[in-house]
Formats: sequence, structure tokens, C-alpha cells
Amino acid sequence: MMSKLPHTTASIFSVMSQLANEHEAINLSQGFPNFPVDERLLEISGRLLKENIHQYTPMAGLPSLLDKIAQLTLDNYHKKISTTTEILVTSGATQGIFMAINALVDKGDEVIILDPSYDSYEPSVLVAGGIPVRISLNDDYTPNFNRIETAITSKTKMLIINNPHNPTGKIWTISDFEALELILEKHPQIIILSDEVYEYISFLHPHISFHTRPKLSNRTIIASSFGKSLHITGWKVGYLITPENLMSEIKKVHQFLVFSVNSFSQYVISEYLDVADFGGIAKMYRQKRDLFQNLIKDSRFELLPCDGTYFQVVSYKNISTQNDLEFARELITKHEVAAIPISVFHNDAADRQMLRFCFAKTDETLIAAAEKLNKV
Ligand code: PMP
Ligand code: GLN
Repeated sequence: MMSKLPHTTASIFSVMSQLANEHEAINLSQGFPNFPVDERLLEISGRLLKENIHQYTPMAGLPSLLDKIAQLTLDNYHKKISTTTEILVTSGATQGIFMAINALVDKGDEVIILDPSYDSYEPSVLVAGGIPVRISLNDDYTPNFNRIETAITSKTKMLIINNPHNPTGKIWTISDFEALELILEKHPQIIILSDEVYEYISFLHPHISFHTRPKLSNRTIIASSFGKSLHITGWKVGYLITPENLMSEIKKVHQFLVFSVNSFSQYVISEYLDVADFGGIAKMYRQKRDLFQNLIKDSRFELLPCDGTYFQVVSYKNISTQNDLEFARELITKHEVAAIPISVFHNDAADRQMLRFCFAKTDETLIAAAEKLNKV
């Protein structure tokens, strides 16, 4: 049998988390918080569990949740969107991204992906029969607009952007958006898929969403994740926002892939959104970033800038000549700290002697991990 994904193996996040568990290492690999969820979320969950909320919701999402997502979008980005035609609740951003690609990309269409890139983009394009065109960001992880422009052909259907960026923590500036707008003006057929799951974790300036870029927002699909924004990655609830002409195609696929996302989490999240503190997220993670950076600043790891997300990239070129996969394994087995090797985010898989640490952890965990890292 022909495989649609012949090169796909277990995700690096599963591999490293499993290895961390086996060796009882501190897991700073897979991106998820280890601090307790908000008590108020637990209270709402306990109460609603006993209510009559256990049957299918409407296909696009629980109406009250759609209303609150629309309000959140208005509050944060001053963008008014239609609750009935422009929002879709998804089983995490992963499903939203896969589905947006599979609803809109045809066989032979090219999709531009900027490397280093999140692991789900390329396989999602391949399943759709599309052609991933992976081009590198600049060395400082800013977008390289010459490369983007050169990569565009008559077959380019989509450009995937991830801002704030996993794994590098880079965020886009206004001039990045302006440069992209100039290029895409000439290519009205190109759709943007904007992965903004870390929208509330931007440290230098408030996140600039495609919602606020009217020249492009009418052809952009924006993916968000309550897993990231409410610190509940295991709930796997996210949403897509896009104009009706694109959304109607995406909904056709959603109807048969998922139909409706699990009702319980939608009810709970909908109520929790009345009290959730989105404004405090960046502050909380900035403190964690600063703590982690301070704790390991005198280690032999070299810290790269981190302007957003909850990931810190480090270079270990002063420590070892091993490739990053080997080094990450050894860090677990010998030093009991787990990280993600950066090569997996690159098409060429070439080793750059870099690792990604997740700092969405309790201060105690970060202190314990830093103690070990300082001895490497
Ligand atoms: N995009 C990026 C850049 C991510 O880091 C992640 C991982 N959380 C996702 C998408 C997937 O989000 P979700 O867990 O909501 O599926
Ligand atoms: N987004 C998470 C990360 O980058 C991983 C999610 C997953 O395990 N698929 O670590």
C-alpha cells in the first residue's frame, strides 16, 4: 500500500515526553504547562458536569461560545466578526489547521511554509495532495521577503505563518506585515493560514493579529487554541476565524471530520471566558521566561532571544559537538532534563546545535531543571 505520509514517524513531542517519563527527567520538551489550572475553571467544570450539557452542540460550536469568541476578537483586535458565519470551534488548533488546508488546497497546489516550522503543517499539506514549499526564515528568524516572493508561483495557493513563532519565540512587527502586504497585493489568489495559538504570549508589544490587517484579513484563516490561552492543552479545543467564503468550505469538511466538538468543554470554556484573565497571560509567562533565563545565564548554554511563546531556544555549541537529537537524548539520560531538538523543525533536518526548552512550568520545576542544566 502506498503511504500518504511515507516519512512520518512518531512526533518528536511524543518521543521526548515518553523518554522523559522513562528516565524520570524534568520534562521541558513538549509544550504544555505543569502548573494547576485555575480553580474557577474547576468549579465551573464540577458544577456543569451535572447539568444537561452532554449532547451534540450545533456543528460550528456552542452559540454562547461563538458569541464570546466574537466578543474576545472585538475586545482584543477591534474586529467585528459574524458569530454565525465566520467562527468554527475545532478540536484544538491542530484539527483546525489540518482542516483548513484540506478544505482549500487541491492536488498539485503549492503551500509556502517558513522554516523552522511546526510539525503538523507539512503532513497536512501532503494529505491534501498539495506540494509543501519550505523556505527558511532569516538567521535571526525574521521573515525573508525575497525568499517568499521568489517562492511564489502560479500554483501557490496558501502561505502559512506562525506568529508568535514556535519554536523560536520570534514575533512579527508592523513592517513585516507591510512587506507581506506589498507582495501579496500582486497575488490575490493566495490564502494565508495564520497560526496564532500563542497570541496572548507576546512580550515586546501586544500581539499583532491578521485581524488588524484589513488588506489581508479578508483572505486569512486565523487559528487559535484555548489549550494555549487557558493553559489546558489536553482539552484540545480551539477555533478558526475566517470570512464566510472560506469558512463555508472548511465547514463542509468539519461536518464529516468532527461534526461538533465535545459539548462539555465548550460549555465550561464559554462560562469561564467571563472571568478568564487574558491580560495577565503575557505577564505571567514573561516572569517565567526571565526566571528561567536568569537561572541558566551562567551555564554553558547560550540563550537566544525569546519575544513570545513559552519556548526558550538555546545553543549548546560550547558544550558538545553531538547532533541535537543525540544531545537531547543524552540530556535526558545523563542530566535528567528533556528538551526538543530544533532540527526537527527544519526541512533539511540539518543540525544547528540548538534545543528548545518549554518554560510553561512551575517556578520549582524551572529551578530544579536549571540546577541540572548548570552542571552540564
Ligand atoms: N500550532 C502551534 C505553533 C503549536 O505550537 C501548537 C501546539 N500547541 C498547535 C498549533 C496545536 O494546538 P492545539 O493543541 O490547540 O491543537
Ligand atoms: N505544540 C506542542 C509543542 O510545540 C506540542 C503538541 C503536540 O505534542 N502535538 O511542544
